[in-house]
Amino acid sequence: MSSNPETLSGWPIVGHEWAVRQLQLAVTHDEVPHALLFTGPESVGKFTLARTVAAALLCKSDAELPPCGGCLSCRKLNSGNHPDFLFIEADAKGGALKIDQIRDVERFLSLTPNESRCKVALIADFERATIGAANALLKTLEEPPGYAHLMLLAQDAELLLPTIVSRSRQIGLRPLGRQQVEEALIARWAVAPEQAERLARISGGRIGWAVRAVTDPAYQEQMEQALTAMLAVLAQDLPTRFETAQEMGRDDAHLPETLEYWLTGWRDVLLIQTDNAVKMTYREHANVLEKIAAQVDVARTLAMIQALEKAQQALQRNVNTQLLLENLLLDFPGL
Ligand SMILES: [Zn+2]
Repeated sequence: MSSNPETLSGWPIVGHEWAVRQLQLAVTHDEVPHALLFTGPESVGKFTLARTVAAALLCKSDAELPPCGGCLSCRKLNSGNHPDFLFIEADAKGGALKIDQIRDVERFLSLTPNESRCKVALIADFERATIGAANALLKTLEEPPGYAHLMLLAQDAELLLPTIVSRSRQIGLRPLGRQQVEEALIARWAVAPEQAERLARISGGRIGWAVRAVTDPAYQEQMEQALTAMLAVLAQDLPTRFETAQEMGRDDAHLPETLEYWLTGWRDVLLIQTDNAVKMTYREHANVLEKIAAQVDVARTLAMIQALEKAQQALQRNVNTQLLLENLLLDFPGL
């Protein structure tokens, strides 16, 4: 076991202590439910935790607390070619999870395991499942083979069929504390303290976001671009806003994150307007945000926050993104 504080639990998971303990107990007592539903916001750590449970189930060592990380099964899983593990996700962000993909899961689970004593299917973005896909999965959930484990990831259980939720054990994950993210970035990812403070603040406790920002510079660049775009819209006339909406709609893979950045920006504007500027996320952009705060009234800021939250919820329900963007950009005040 590593002496690293983040891995004292034995699993490479930052935070989510309660969920980790519960799942480790289930693993060591051989009582992992056949259907697990991990819920929580984007990049909060659902995938990493679910995949670790999958690794523990598939691990072939007799380690006290699997996964061992070194056996043939663990190595195959890490290199992405374990025959008893299947991962599926929606086509692209904004795309749907289709019935054919669920049929693949059914086929995969209908055959007995190749190497391990069980089979694990991990399905991400389940809130994007079409109604046909969700119903198809329901059948598998009703009578899973003894060796089968299904792990579903979704942002919010309320977006799923109640019958899916009731047949699964739900593991709800919440954003971590800012401090916890900051410490993990320093201890585990060797990030300089000043940078760790900034990324932890911007992450809003979504550890996956912070780690991606560290390992992929383009990801931070994307945030800066989103903020620049938000400011640009404020100065645009209506025809130009339609053009912007069309442009953004063509590249909707980044849309969920863009909306999150915009929402954070408008929350910062509200914080400035209500004398809470110390709690701002985008401190580095305080100058511009202060100008907006001075020109827009609080009611309008609140309306923007509501419009963005509504757009986020709509985006999780396979809506027409073009229309969604047009409506949203027209809601922006003109400065
Ligand atoms: Zn192993």
